[in-house]
Formats: sequence, structure tokens, C-alpha cells
Amino acid sequence: MTGDLTYPGGGVRLHVEGPLRKEMRITPSPEQAHYLLHVMRAKAGDMLSLFNGRDGEWRAEIADVTKRSCTLVCRAQSGPQQAVPDLWLVFAPIKKTPTDYLVQKATELGASLLQPVFTRRTIVTRVNRDRMRANAIEAAEQSGRTDVPEIREPLPLEKLLAQWPADRKLLFCDEAGDALPIAKAFAQKRPSPLAEGGEAQRATGEGDCSWAILTGPEGGFDPAERAVIRARDGAIPVTLGKRILRADTAALAALAIFQSLRGDWD
Ligand code: SAH
Repeated sequence: MTGDLTYPGGGVRLHVEGPLRKEMRITPSPEQAHYLLHVMRAKAGDMLSLFNGRDGEWRAEIADVTKRSCTLVCRAQSGPQQAVPDLWLVFAPIKKTPTDYLVQKATELGASLLQPVFTRRTIVTRVNRDRMRANAIEAAEQSGRTDVPEIREPLPLEKLLAQWPADRKLLFCDEAGDALPIAKAFAQKRPSPLAEGGEAQRATGEGDCSWAILTGPEGGFDPAERAVIRARDGAIPVTLGKRILRADTAALAALAIFQSLRGDWD
């Protein structure tokens, strides 16, 4: 019997690199073919979903099944290309397993871009971007995203700050300070630079600006780094509560709070 390929969590969705168009025939990667044929025991005629980050969601039929390979034939578009909120996660890389976890969960929580940053207390010296992308793809497949977050080349903190876009605000997760929680920081009124006598007020981040979240390594930011970040225009120090969170927990908590306040969790 043929039908929809499903697993306990839902229908099978795969990310492919090439374009998706009606009747296009796609050769899955060897790993995807193995997954479809041997893990999911797919048969010719079974249906699954495909996305590539550009062309929306497509229904595709499995054809030309041999022992090791098959073809995926694009039948019809089943959903539009969707965008997540424009939210970057800038994080100091941690050890391999927690970084895998962080990339997967940040993708599920809807980060649009992941930027590893080397700080003074970052212990990890190299980042495997291919591995990060593979984790992001897996999480996008599983969570129903039609895009995959961009994974940027890691940068040292000074360099990152030197080239920081002027129109992007930075929620600086600062465990050591007197910072406000994110909700209060968003609600805080600041005197408008245009207003006379500071009478007119504007909410922090009002308008069309975009956002990033910055979290540190297991050892935290050093005092000089904290001072430099805090002194920047557009950087808003925030607390994630009284408890010190592990680096991966902090990044994910901040993403969840942002998405519920300013993101697409409404
Ligand atoms: N320096 C700390 C641990 C750092 S936790 C220590 O050793 O005691 C790793 C990162 O998570 C921090 O740099 C910060 O960005 C974030 N973080 C953890 N807990 C936080 C909190 N309660 N508020 C804001 N940021 C936090």
C-alpha cells in the first residue's frame, strides 16, 4: 500500500538544495535515500513533503525505487515560502554536543540567523559550520519551517561589533548586572532624541529596527567586554532572571521570551 510517509511526530519532510517546480525530478542525497528506503521503508508512490528555503512547501512522490536510490517527483506546491521574524542569535560557541543542541533548538524557536562569536572566555577555538548547518536543516525539517537559518562565519567580538549594522538592536544577556528583564526593557520609555525637553517618549526599539540576542560562553563575558558592549548605541542589557543559566539555556530562554513579546508567537 502506498500513502503518506509518516513517523510518530508527523509527516516526512526533507530539505533539498535545488529548485522545486511542478514535475521536477529530484535525486535525494545518499543519506536521504537511506532514510527513506531503509528507515521509513518507503515504496514507489508514497508521498512526502519537500522544501528548499526559497520555493515554499511541496508534495512529492517517490519513484524509481531501487535498493539504494529513488527519485522524488514534485507534484504540487502545498504551502507558501514563509519567513520567520528577523531575529539573529549571536552566541559564544560551547562544546560540541551543547552547540548541536543549541543550533537545533534555536532553529525550532525561530531564529533567522546564527552568528557564532569568539569572546575572551570562549574555550572552543573552532566551529564546524557544516555540522551546524546539518543540525539546523534537521530541526527545520522536523519543526515545519520552510527556511533554514543562515549560519554565519564565526567572528571575534571586536570585529563583530565593529561591523555591527546600525539599524539592528542588540539584546545583551548580561548575568552580572543590574539589567532589566526583556519585557521591561521593551516597555521602557526613553526620551526621544528629537523631542524638546525629553517630553515626547518612544518605546525602546520602536519602529522598524531589527533585533539580535547576544549570549556569552560558560565563563561569561569579562568586565571589559561587558563595558564595551553596554556602551554601544543600540545595545540593551537584559537579565534572564535571578538564576545563572548555562550558555545554551540562556540563548534559548532569550529566544523564547523575544518570540512571545515581539516575534511570531501570537
Ligand atoms: N559567568 C557565569 C556564567 C555565564 S552563563 C558564571 O560562571 O557564573 C553564560 C551566558 O549566559 C552569560 O554570558 C549570559 O550571556 C547568559 N546568561 C546566563 N544567565 C543569565 C541571566 N540570569 N541573565 C542574563 N544572561 C544570562
